[in-house]
Amino acid sequence: MSNKARNVPFFNYPYVFTSREEQFMETIRDVGRRGAFIMQKDLAEFERHLADYVGAKYAVGVANATDGLHLAVRAAGIGPGDEVLFASHTMVATAAAIYFAGATPVPVDCGPDHLIDPESVRAAITPRTKAIMPTQLNGRTANMDELLAIAEEHDLIIIEDAAQALGSKFKGKCAGTFGLAGVISFYPAKTLGAFGDGGIVFTNDEAMYRKLLLLRDHGRDEDGEVVMWGLNSRLDNLHAAILDYKLTYYDEEIARRREIARLYKTYLREVKELVLPPGPDGDPDHFDIFQNYEIEAENRDALREYLREHGVGTLIQWGGKAVHQFEKLGFTVRLPNTERLFQRCLMLPMNTSLSDEDVLYVSNTVRDFYGYPRV
Ligand SMILES: *Cc1c(COP(=O)(O)O)cnc(C)c1O
Repeated sequence: MSNKARNVPFFNYPYVFTSREEQFMETIRDVGRRGAFIMQKDLAEFERHLADYVGAKYAVGVANATDGLHLAVRAAGIGPGDEVLFASHTMVATAAAIYFAGATPVPVDCGPDHLIDPESVRAAITPRTKAIMPTQLNGRTANMDELLAIAEEHDLIIIEDAAQALGSKFKGKCAGTFGLAGVISFYPAKTLGAFGDGGIVFTNDEAMYRKLLLLRDHGRDEDGEVVMWGLNSRLDNLHAAILDYKLTYYDEEIARRREIARLYKTYLREVKELVLPPGPDGDPDHFDIFQNYEIEAENRDALREYLREHGVGTLIQWGGKAVHQFEKLGFTVRLPNTERLFQRCLMLPMNTSLSDEDVLYVSNTVRDFYGYPRV
């Protein structure tokens, strides 16, 4: 009944470290005392473990997911003259990965679950279309049956931006393993968060794997011979060791996120002014990991201000605009669903530092705003 004021920040950055500080320090000491900083066994082990975790043949650690997407696009042979379709409700990184490969990023609309809309994909295909880059947004995997069918029909490559979706599944198959490559981010606020930047690329294709290894390390092969142009985009060995430890309890973290989603759904279901995200129990085809809890809300800006006044941090993804809405990037397309969504979408706090009482407090504050009795 009571709704005593509390502070619920949108994200708790210190908690990323303090949650298991002693174990992290042990890992840091172990790696540091071995002097194992670049491309050492901890990286190889972590790559193996994460590939096994998602059911991919290969994994290549990279400096961040943006690099991972860019290297995947280049390794796939996508370049000048090619068009690549992506959902505009994504981080600009998805489009930048295409742009810096010399190809043309083509934004498409999203559907009711906020993910790429297959109909919009179909409508945007031209003779120059080479690939689709679906973003597995908010920890949910798109309906890949439809996208794979479109890709097959038009002979298109699929590269998944699965930055937000480690362990998320569609029909039992993990995000990042459906296409030629898939990329995960270890940005601190991501579900498997590092103490800085990091990312990984999955692929089942051996040629792709070999190219990614070269591209991330100056184009050098095992003998140090430079066999192609490459970059420096390695995942730090220290970070790999820390992430490998975090992977041992990752499933518990996801279970907790799904529990928080369940609580939000219980407390907010009857609020007619909101549209809640799907899941976690609604649809057996989807296993969502809730990187974010992105709702749609009537009177969104006033709700956001009310929550702020009551100590609750919220966020609108990507600074409040879909990629095609950033004027300086020069897109001219109109995407009605995405544009409507960006007047309504809002992310409530969703992370493992939240207590049940925090979730109840956030929910009751939302209920207060719309005039529903507290629970
Ligand atoms: C976080 C994120 C990225 C970028 O990841 P970095 O590791 O920070 O480069 C790309 N796409 C999506 C959808 C993201 O959420």
